[in-house]
Order: sequence, then C-alpha cells, then structure tokens
Amino acid sequence: MNTSTKLWITEAARTTMAAAAARAHPIETGGILIGVYLDGHPWITTAVEIPTIERGRSHYRIPAGATHVAVLGARAVDHRLGYLGDWHSHPHDVGPSPKDLASLALVSMKRPRLPNPTQIVLRRTDHGYTLDARRIVAFTPRVCTIELTGALPRASQHADEVTGRGNLPPDDIRTFTTDSPGAQP
Ligand SMILES: [Zn+2]
Repeated sequence: MNTSTKLWITEAARTTMAAAAARAHPIETGGILIGVYLDGHPWITTAVEIPTIERGRSHYRIPAGATHVAVLGARAVDHRLGYLGDWHSHPHDVGPSPKDLASLALVSMKRPRLPNPTQIVLRRTDHGYTLDARRIVAFTPRVCTIELTGALPRASQHADEVTGRGNLPPDDIRTFTTDSPGAQP
C-alpha cells in the first residue's frame, strides 16, 4: 500500500487558489485540483475555481456535475490531466471541519485510488494563506507534505529537454486515460 503523504503543487496552482480565496473573502470559495501522478505521488498542476451559490462564511459546496465538466475542460487543454481532489478556503486560520473530513472520507470511498484524492483547505492567516492538505491513508486523514514545483512540462517535450523542475524525477508521469474523473487512472 502506498502510505506516502507527499504532495507536489505547482506554484501557479497555489497562486490561483490564494488569489481566489482573497477575492472571495470573507466568503469561502473553492473548486477542484487537477494534475497527474508522478512516481506514484499526486502532482497538482492546476487549481480550478468553481462558482456556486452554495457558499457562505463557513461553507462551500461544489455544484453537482461541475467537477466532471471542469475535468473535461482541463483535459481538452492537456489530455494527461485528471481529477486529484478538491480545495476550498477558510476565512480564518482553522483547519478542516468535521464536515470537511467527512466529505474527504466520502470522496475517497466514491473515487478510491492509491493515493486517494487530496483535500486542500486554504487557511487565512495574518501573512496570507496557508495550505492544509490531507488525504485518507489507511482510512485515516493524514496531513500531506507539500513541495512546490514549476509547471508540468509540455506533452511534446522529451524528459531530457525539461528544465526548471528541481529534483523531480524525469520519468514515470502516470497520466489519466479515461474521460471520467471518477475512473481509476
Ligand atoms: Zn471547510
């Protein structure tokens, strides 16, 4: 079993989430996490904000069907991408609520994979937003260890032409092969 809690996030994805959270403040906002698996670890390359009327100062809910549409939109740009989880903001410096953890457990049951989908909560602090990322490992929500990265190399590039990715391994990018965000990659 893959019990790693490593999570790669591009700086662009983090910036997208933090900017959206700041715009929406003091109301919550959120959306979905898009990316690939690299070396068996999720690598979030894009964060998509999804508008909804079901949001307020202490709740945010993605409308039914919106996840699928957003994943298809991302895949139209880059076919390697797929659903990696959800994110939403908190207008205060507090981590996931019991309800957030329940929804993480639910999505992990509905879309089980190794590793399971990730939930990111953006906690508003005096110094900007802190990312609180969790996923279910062996039935327990575990805090993820976040490493920021550059962008995903273009599909047409060869691995040896890629630069600016720090120490990420050059191969074994596991991509998504179906159109359904609910399917196993
Ligand atoms: Zn929450």
